[in-house]
Amino acid sequence: MAHFRMEIESLSENEEFARVVTAVFMSRMNPTLEQVEDVKTAVSEAVTNAVIHGYQNGEGVIVLEGRIQGDWLTVTVEDRGSGIRDVKRAMEPLYTTDKTGERSGMGFSFMEAFMDQVQVESEPGKGTIVQMKKEIRQEQDGGIPNAASIPKPVSIPESVNTSKAVSTSKAASTSKAASTSKAASISRSVSILESRLVSACGRSSRTAGVIQSILSIQP
Ligand code: ATP
Ligand code: MG
Repeated sequence: MAHFRMEIESLSENEEFARVVTAVFMSRMNPTLEQVEDVKTAVSEAVTNAVIHGYQNGEGVIVLEGRIQGDWLTVTVEDRGSGIRDVKRAMEPLYTTDKTGERSGMGFSFMEAFMDQVQVESEPGKGTIVQMKKEIRQEQDGGIPNAASIPKPVSIPESVNTSKAVSTSKAASTSKAASTSKAASISRSVSILESRLVSACGRSSRTAGVIQSILSIQP
């Protein structure tokens, strides 16, 4: 078993540091490039959340931990900031408490799509621990991604009024205006998210498809 644990200051520039450290750590598992990208994206989202939500861009310490047990990588991101009142709700796609319009409420959905398991423990006033696991199976043929590396779709709860959810509901005709504006906001989110993932993590492929599958949008 291999393990590392480090404390970093809550600064946005440390988000890059955290994902690079994690990528170097997991390189001993002989991962595919895609698996590395997936983990970097998930770490990036968790650390960004700690910085902007946990500590509201103020001072604080973030603990990053990595563990390798057999084929399984576990990455934990912990902050001692504001905590989350309702974790289940916070993890719903498109749910955000951000008022600036810069965030789209997709961070946890990305973590769930790109990792095999995500567990969040949080207590208001105490902080948040995000534990993420991914299986890095050894490839026999040196390159074709295994099933575990194909991102999983995340279903959107009824409470989130996506265009698809609205159009299949009984209230479809009366909610047409809401549906149109939600569709516009989703398409705006998709382009923001796509450019964010490409610039933050150097992702070149799959990104748009993954976002569409998370939001259950038909291409
Ligand atoms: P995006 O990640 O798309 O930029 P977002 O950060 O709002 O937007 P998520 O990452 O899914 O979306 O997080 C959802 C919500 O959960 C946040 O808006 C915030 O209220 C809460 N949250 C997430 N992480 C933390 C944290 N570490 N501390 C406190 N609150 C958090
Ligand atoms: Mg986020």
